[in-house]
Formats: sequence, C-alpha cells, structure tokens
Amino acid sequence: MTSQLPIVVIGGGTAGCTVVSTLAAMTSLPIVLIEPGLSSVHDDEPAFFDVLSDETLSREVQTTLVDGGEDKPYTQAQVLGGGSAINGLLLTGEEPSFVSGLTRMATEADCGQVATALLAENGRFSRLWWNGGRWNPGRAVQHLVDEGRVTVIAESVTYLEHAQRVIKVAHTTNEAIEGSLFVMCAGALTTPALLLHSSLERAVSGIGDGLQNHPTVTFSVLLKTPGSQRFDATVVRDSLSSSGAQLLTIAYERTNSENVTNGLISISLMDPESRGGVWRSNTAMQNDFNMLATMRDRVAMREAVRELIATAMSPSFSAISTHVSVDSDGTSVETLDVMKNVELDEWIAANLTVVSHAASSCHEIVDADGKVRGVGNLYIADSSILHSVPSCSPAGPVVVEAARIARTLGETLI
Ligand SMILES: Cc1cc2nc3c(=O)[nH]c(=O)nc-3n(C[C@H](O)[C@H](O)[C@H](O)COP(=O)(O)OP(=O)(O)OC[C@H]3O[C@@H](n4cnc5c(N)ncnc54)[C@H](O)[C@@H]3O)c2cc1C
Repeated sequence: MTSQLPIVVIGGGTAGCTVVSTLAAMTSLPIVLIEPGLSSVHDDEPAFFDVLSDETLSREVQTTLVDGGEDKPYTQAQVLGGGSAINGLLLTGEEPSFVSGLTRMATEADCGQVATALLAENGRFSRLWWNGGRWNPGRAVQHLVDEGRVTVIAESVTYLEHAQRVIKVAHTTNEAIEGSLFVMCAGALTTPALLLHSSLERAVSGIGDGLQNHPTVTFSVLLKTPGSQRFDATVVRDSLSSSGAQLLTIAYERTNSENVTNGLISISLMDPESRGGVWRSNTAMQNDFNMLATMRDRVAMREAVRELIATAMSPSFSAISTHVSVDSDGTSVETLDVMKNVELDEWIAANLTVVSHAASSCHEIVDADGKVRGVGNLYIADSSILHSVPSCSPAGPVVVEAARIARTLGETLI
C-alpha cells in the first residue's frame, strides 16, 4: 500500500473502537474515525439504568419487531465506545481472551432482591463487563486521539461516494473524507442503511438481508420493599425449550433510573431462526426484525413465556413482590397464566420488548475477512456481519470478530 490516504472507520462503537485500536498498533497509516457521539463520563458508574438515562449517549430508531406489527423505538448507542459505553454490563458467554482481567463474575454482594430471587429459581451469576470500571473500548481510542495517532470527526456519515466498485469518499453534512480503505462499523441497522443509501445494491446483492434480534418478553415485579442495588443486573438463568431452543432469563433490580418500586424479569429466545431485513423504500430506510416467523420460534417463545410466568408466581418471587404486571396497563401475571396457546401467542406478538441486540444484516455480503464482495476497498466489522445473533449477550462476539477482522486487515498493511 503506497497511498497515504487514511483508513476511514465509520462508527466508533464496540466494533469501531476495537478496529481502530487494533489497526493503530499494526500500521503507521493515518486512521480517521467518523463517530457522531462524544466520550462518556459514566465509565465508573455500575448502575446500567443511570448510564442509560443520559440521553446524550443514545438515540432512538423506529423498528418493526413482528411482520405487520406496530413500530417500536430501538435504543441505538451514539457515543464513543457505542453499545459498550451504555450496555447492561452482562457478559453471559465466555470472556474474550484479550479483555482478560477487565471483566469479572458477579458475586452475592452485587445482587439485589430480584437477582437473589432468580438465583433461588435455578439462576446463576453472570460475568460483568466490569472490574472496578466499565469495559469501554472508547477509552483506548481517546488515548490514541490525545497522542495524535487517530483523528476523530464528530459527525454522521450520510453516504459513500464510489466509482468503478471502489469507495472514494465518505460524506458527512460538513465534510468529505477521502480514504484508502473504509471499514463500516455503524451497527447492524445503520451499516446496511448507509450502503443502500449509497446505491451500492447495484454492485452488491443481499445488503440488509438476514437481520436478527432476540425476541424478548418482560414482566414488571412490584416489590414489597422498594430498593435498588449497585448493579442493576447480575443474575441470569439458562434453559431450553422442548425443541432445544436456548432461553435466557434476566433479573433487573429496577425498571429505569427513577423507578425503584418495581424490578423486571425478562426472557429471551437466544437462538432464533427467524430473519428480517433492512431495505430502502424510495428514499426512506425501513427495517423489520420479522421475529417469530417460524413455528419453532413461536412455540419456543410460548414455552419461554410459560416459564417466565412460573418464575413470577414461584415462592421466591412471591416472597419479594405483591404484584407482577405483564404489560403497561398493569395486567396481572395470573391473567396470562390461564390463556390458551392461541391467545397467548397473539399476546406475545403484541407485547414483545425491544432489546438492542440487532445483528446479521450484512453477513451475506462479506467474505471471511469482512471484505465486501465486489467492492475493492470496503470492509465491515460490526454486529451486522455475525452469521446470526449470538446465543449469549452479543458484545463479546462483536468484539472478537471486530478484532479478528482488524488483525487480518492489519497484516496486509505496512
Ligand atoms: C441499551 C443497551 C444495552 C445492552 N446490553 C448489553 C449487555 O448487557 N451485554 C451485551 O453483551 N450486549 C449488550 N448490548 C448490545 C451490545 O452493546 C451491542 O451488540 C454492540 O455494542 C454492537 O456493537 P456495534 O459495534 O455493532 O454497534 P454500536 O456499538 O452500536 O456502534 C455503532 C456506532 O456507530 C455510530 N454511528 C451510527 N450511525 C453513524 C453514521 N451515520 N456515521 C458514523 N457513525 C455512526 C454510533 O454512534 C455508534 O457509536 C446492549 C446494547 C444497548 C444499546
């Protein structure tokens, strides 16, 4: 590579910051990161809902969860470090080896009453993206910026200019940034939207196809003794449906930063089959997660909700709560318990909760090294390239894949 045009990374979230710091250690080429969000000042704050209540760190995107269903707002990180700067701190799968020591297992001392109740109902401690502070890859990038090694442009990319299947310029409202290589890391909803908005579908087919997320249902637990805890979520429970689908229950001590009278319990289908997409209709971008589109997913989710009902009505939860509501109208869990399967299926489709685990919307258009097939200098390294939504909390697999793609790319650079 002879050009001194920079490597341009678009989106400085979990993947983007991992790519920037990995590449910065492997090449002396200039690196420009385009990220509209600023640095977070909350990396020492363990309470997830307190961080999330800082509205400067995220924005809402309208999403469709089930085909034909009404749109619901999806929380999308907009901060240096992305989802890792604001996420729930849960690391339910393996710890990526290169963050060894920066995460730790939750302990009894971290648990509040909702977590303790789930622990008594076959729950287990989760690993946390925390060891005296939040693991946020934006911090490493901030050092590189301070040292003059990386330039950050605090704007949103609006489209990519290209000619003869080579990307030339990333455009923002105020800037046109030329580059030698472009690495997309704007997240599983925005990365395909930007490629489509740049009219790349003429060169690459399959952009946006295969979008996935974890179908989730949440109940609100009215606590006998209101209170919060240092961490909002520390205990989870793994289980299987009759078809072997993987389910994950999570206990939360509060419903948001202000409500300490209620906790939450949620259950998610962690290995869904159903897939949706991101597409362009005229000039507007649209998406549909198309959850519960297969019979296997619908039955698994029904069994999941029956499991959550049993948990909510268990002695451990009865001991801490006076009422469990299943929707914003305060409908009791007992009402759900007596529903027949058909009625329960309809209720589930209408009451799915949005979780910010979008993935896989570009997995069909990249090769094993994250290179977009058919475009000379375009890579993708964020959650959109995962083959399917991870069956554990997603930040771990996103980090591992981003680091692998950056290392492979870095080896081709001098
Ligand atoms: C509220 C919340 C709670 C979560 N809880 C957990 C959890 O407990 N455990 C877990 O493992 N995972 C959790 N996740 C999911 C996890 O954080 C994400 O899977 C992961 O961060 C996705 O990484 P990414 O790099 O693909 O996208 P992101 O980290 O979202 O990064 C995308 C970045 O692109 C930027 N961007 C967007 N549009 C543009 C544009 N036009 N131009 C330039 N930049 C742009 C955004 O500002 C953002 O910084 C949570 C996520 C959220 C939002």
